[in-house]
Amino acid sequence: MAKISINMKSGEVAAKEIILGIDLGTTNSLVSYVKDGRPVLVKDRTGQSTLVPSVLHFSESGDLIVGDAAKDKLMTHPESTIYSVKRLLGKAYQDLSDYSNRLSYKIIDVEDQLVKVQVGDKFYSPIELSAEILKHLKQRVESELKVTANKAVITVPAYFNDAQRQATRDAGKLAGLEVLRIINEPTAAALAYGDQSEDTDETIAVYDLGGGTFDISILQLSDGVYDVLSTNGDTFLGGDDVDELIIKHWLEERGLTVSAMDEDKTLAQSVRLKAEQAKKHLSANNSFASGDFTLDREIFDTLISPLIETTLAKTKAALRDAELDSTDIDKIILVGGSTRIPLVKEKLSQLFNVEIYNEIDPDEVVAMGAALQADSLAGNQSDLLLLDVTPLSLGIETVGGLMDTVIPRNSKVPASVAKSYTTSVDGQANLKVAVFQGERDLVEHNRKLGEFILKGIPPMPAGIPKIKVHFVIDADGIIKIKAEEERTQTRTEITIKSQYGISEEEMGKMLIDSIKNAKVDMETKALVDAKNEGSALVFSAEKFIKQNKAILSEEEIATMSRQVADLKAVLDVTDKDVIYAKITVLNEYSEPLAERAMNHNISMAMKGQSLKD
Ligand code: AMP
Repeated sequence: MAKISINMKSGEVAAKEIILGIDLGTTNSLVSYVKDGRPVLVKDRTGQSTLVPSVLHFSESGDLIVGDAAKDKLMTHPESTIYSVKRLLGKAYQDLSDYSNRLSYKIIDVEDQLVKVQVGDKFYSPIELSAEILKHLKQRVESELKVTANKAVITVPAYFNDAQRQATRDAGKLAGLEVLRIINEPTAAALAYGDQSEDTDETIAVYDLGGGTFDISILQLSDGVYDVLSTNGDTFLGGDDVDELIIKHWLEERGLTVSAMDEDKTLAQSVRLKAEQAKKHLSANNSFASGDFTLDREIFDTLISPLIETTLAKTKAALRDAELDSTDIDKIILVGGSTRIPLVKEKLSQLFNVEIYNEIDPDEVVAMGAALQADSLAGNQSDLLLLDVTPLSLGIETVGGLMDTVIPRNSKVPASVAKSYTTSVDGQANLKVAVFQGERDLVEHNRKLGEFILKGIPPMPAGIPKIKVHFVIDADGIIKIKAEEERTQTRTEITIKSQYGISEEEMGKMLIDSIKNAKVDMETKALVDAKNEGSALVFSAEKFIKQNKAILSEEEIATMSRQVADLKAVLDVTDKDVIYAKITVLNEYSEPLAERAMNHNISMAMKGQSLKD
């Protein structure tokens, strides 16, 4: 098998330059870089966590908050707090028909374009929203290391299609990052694992169950060579779906259906958070009880069993594609927060009967691998060789709507394959080349990536022109296609822009906007962020006190009101840390109160609805 070396453009990257390794996740995102040969994960300002919630909140005045502070708004401002953006990346509205009802914010159908998110009277593409998360991560590193970071390696699920990969790359560009490489999450995880492993020759399975996506990859590791043998997955299967199953169960217990929460986004969001809390609790305990909400492990396992079985079926398919048996696997690497669910581990142990490697935090392993790959691209890890594969077959539509596969799935990337076609009608001057990605025989069941027309074919009888269609997949998994009539050398070439991709013009405009924003001095920006976060907290805390007088004690109201006043008093200072100190005090005090209020409110609301129904 030909080994393709990764592009080590040593001279291109300045010696001290930081290249970021970014895990842009559905639920959380992380950023890492390599220092003295080791991946370092960047922590938040409290030094506690490496995870940045992939959540954005638009305040009433139009300011944007990203991360933890935005996550705090999920319940109080469900319609202006955006989560799970990764699930929308590279998707058109019709791809999301069932999912849109599950979101507490609004997504809109823009004809022939990627879906957009509506907040108030403004519209944002998932690319712009992802770019904001990336900018936040970039700034985190820049303010910690006091350097600028303009280059990055960003990870994507192995099963992301062309549109989703391009959208990710566009988001990076929009965030002011030169995206040196898009790499697959399981491959990144394998890099991080390989970096720590003593064994030099192993076959591993990387099982990645995150918030919104599932990926399985089988890799052969041998002396610094990472050879992906096969990959499989589902870009719409993850922890969010587990939460949804719990919600459905709780509603059914009360004789309600999901539509019962359609009208009340705050209620829906509260129940969603409660479901996630129950799920996480059950990863370490046998039962969950909070107010009227209870769930035990046995019921939970029954609820999620079909979902886990789906991941196992895909795991078996990946093994088949790699022409291996489960006994050939030496180790299983777990990636993604949802692999903490005990049933996942149980089922995997049954299937493979081998050790599950859990030395690296499943949340952090991908970002660490991305940083190692970034370091390799900087020319610092000369003994690393990455041989990735394309997750989906690529082909063109032929007569009768059939898919003619040109590059089969699990082919090594980069890849370049040409295939010859001809005309079906005498004197045909134009040939439409419609490009699809997927495994089904009929193109209508696969995803259309785009189409183009080879024009000016000289008149010839049907079957005589020789049209060579050349597919090229680059190391990011992104596709370029050329078509040429060989006798006359009539040619056309396109980079497949997703059928619903953003136009160059749109991208240009977005870039100008982002450059404008980048001019804002970093320190000023940090202070503005602190002030925004502080005012938003004052607003929501005051509202909270007003709405929850009945369940708060007098002392609690007095303490919280004093803390709100203290925070208000420092909102005009020029030291962001002073503001954050007051924010922390108020947050820590109000958290258990909010929890209590949430329990109370959900119970009341659901009881009310049960009665009404
Ligand atoms: P990721 O996209 O990899 O950040 O994974 C996030 C997903 O993992 C979310 O659906 C979380 O609810 C889920 N998750 C995080 N911690 C746990 C846990 N202890 N038990 C079960 N699921 C978890």
